[in-house]
Amino acid sequence: MKYWIDTEFIERPFTIDLISVGLVAEDGREFYAESSEVDWSKANLWTLQNVRPQLDGNGMTREEIGYALRRFTDGDEHPVFWGYFPAYDWVAFIWLFGNMDELPFHYPQLCLDIKQWAIELGDPELPHQQGARHHALLDARWTREAWAFLARLAPAAGERRALGRKIPNSSGGQSK
Ligand SMILES: [Mg+2]
Repeated sequence: MKYWIDTEFIERPFTIDLISVGLVAEDGREFYAESSEVDWSKANLWTLQNVRPQLDGNGMTREEIGYALRRFTDGDEHPVFWGYFPAYDWVAFIWLFGNMDELPFHYPQLCLDIKQWAIELGDPELPHQQGARHHALLDARWTREAWAFLARLAPAAGERRALGRKIPNSSGGQSK
């Protein structure tokens, strides 16, 4: 099953501090959680003004979010994750489970990128997001919209899977 993901986070060199995470599943279910462990002293003014006011304030620890995500994807043997410029989102997402090696074994180690797919298709203008932005669930819903837009242009390519591990025939290891 596909999952469209988005996160909000505080970034600074060597740290991506997850604020919130949203997922929309292909079957229509939605997941949203906020971290209770955010170091707000590191947030810049933009984040304080644009992200923080949209939070519901019901934070969970990162570990609790990781277990809630396992439950959300429970029974799905082949999850496929899609994000929009998801490099930072994916790191923040993975860290909810530990290191890359500690992802649930059936999770791919790669998040597929809507933007990269758009570039492959000639970089068409994607649908504009209506309403509020910089809320992880609202942004995840838009990511699904953007995927659907591209899937109308190239239906088969929308069904690609993220298979294999970064280090083949290995469950991980320290060499990167
Ligand atoms: Mg966002």
